[in-house]
Amino acid sequence: MTITELRKKFIEGKYTPLNAYEEMRAVIDAKNADINAFIDVFDDAREEAMRATEQYAEKGNDTPILLGMPMAIKNNILMKGKRATASSKILEHYVAPYDATIITRLKAQGATFMGTTNLDEFAMGSSTENSAFGVTKNPIDPTRVPGGSSGGSGAAVAMGAAVVALGTDTGGSVRLPASFCGLVGYKPTYGAVSRYGLIAMGSSLDQAGTFTNSVRDAEILFENMSGKDIYDATTINSDTYPLVATKEKYRIGIPRDFLLEGMDADVLAVFNAEIEKLTALGHDVVDVSLPLMKRGLAAYYIVMPAEVSSNLARYDGVRFGLRAEGDTLLEDYMKTRAEGFGTEVKRRILLGTYVLSAGYYDAYYGKAETVRQMMRAELAEVYKNIDIIMTPTAPTPAFKIGEKSDPLSMYLADIFTVPVNLTGVPAISVPVTPVLRDDILLPVGVQYIAPHAGDARLFDFGKKVYDTPKGIT
Ligand code: GLN
Repeated sequence: MTITELRKKFIEGKYTPLNAYEEMRAVIDAKNADINAFIDVFDDAREEAMRATEQYAEKGNDTPILLGMPMAIKNNILMKGKRATASSKILEHYVAPYDATIITRLKAQGATFMGTTNLDEFAMGSSTENSAFGVTKNPIDPTRVPGGSSGGSGAAVAMGAAVVALGTDTGGSVRLPASFCGLVGYKPTYGAVSRYGLIAMGSSLDQAGTFTNSVRDAEILFENMSGKDIYDATTINSDTYPLVATKEKYRIGIPRDFLLEGMDADVLAVFNAEIEKLTALGHDVVDVSLPLMKRGLAAYYIVMPAEVSSNLARYDGVRFGLRAEGDTLLEDYMKTRAEGFGTEVKRRILLGTYVLSAGYYDAYYGKAETVRQMMRAELAEVYKNIDIIMTPTAPTPAFKIGEKSDPLSMYLADIFTVPVNLTGVPAISVPVTPVLRDDILLPVGVQYIAPHAGDARLFDFGKKVYDTPKGIT
């Protein structure tokens, strides 16, 4: 179901937010022990749903669009009075002292918060296997991963435990699980949505994003979460967005040189079929050359760990969360961090401090930032002739739990998504034709990328191509 469909029912009054809450809570009670999408399930959601039910009865149509909508929130987004663990042992007992700006905005609408969802520790991963709270399974095939790092949020919507969910996307963590779980995943323009109250991973890359069942739902959430925030100096004012006129026919660019040899053959076939569909719909599909995009992964795995090493320095056993005591202050730090962080987090802190060290800064970090600038310039050039870039979201469908034990093969899952974060542009993953594996149809996503601040263009295009044919408005 979509927000639009639910809202219609709520206004008619035959089905209430309380009914929706109860139905979704029953799903959580039945399935979460196995799927492990949620870290914490909120009993106070029932009161929120009751209040919303009363307001619909009283005011009907004259209510906020998100009133009573059951939502799941990734557990690295702060909600006052609730645990914000980032799925790390180091924050296992940390309770958020304030609301993230996006939560404040959703609370003002009267949304129903079902609970908080599992992730790879500190959002580092592509499978939701690296969590101190255990692996999340893909509800479509529980032997497979839901993708990551916002896998709990993807699984929550896919299993019917929430109508929409929030995640964070530093290198693909919303789009990848959306593609593995058969959902629409949206990553806004950097700065469109406030990062205040998000547990930081890579500050120049992080953006909050959404999991929904339609493009229109992604747009509704974007409209209600985005905008200038005095608590986040990198936010941009929506008034300053270039006005993107809607178009009937879009010009879509395919970066052929970026489509890997290592891509799954079925996913490539689905992608090519999608191109044909767009052409049949009258859109103009052309090849574009983006030779730097394939350098994205290498640049990302320098810039991101550098920022991680700096952002995670704050977990020192004094200010937040876990504290392990040694004989000296230095030993306190070392013991706390040794006990509190998992392997992947430690790996990235080590990489990050290395690329930032005096002797290697220019060779690694400086060079990666230069590549990033060049990627931005390359994109800007290509957008002079096209409206939107199209790539697969991931090279494969959901892989098996335990299949990618080597970190480098896991990093490859992000090949198509990280250039988007490095350049700060918006992108959407939409579910297309599924592929068959072990007698189960597994979802596949296609990614559309717009120029900086071109969010409205993605919504316009996405609604026309992906919402209307299914009868969703
Ligand atoms: N999978 C990528 C990584 O491991 C992206 C993570 C994210 O977007 N939070 O860094």
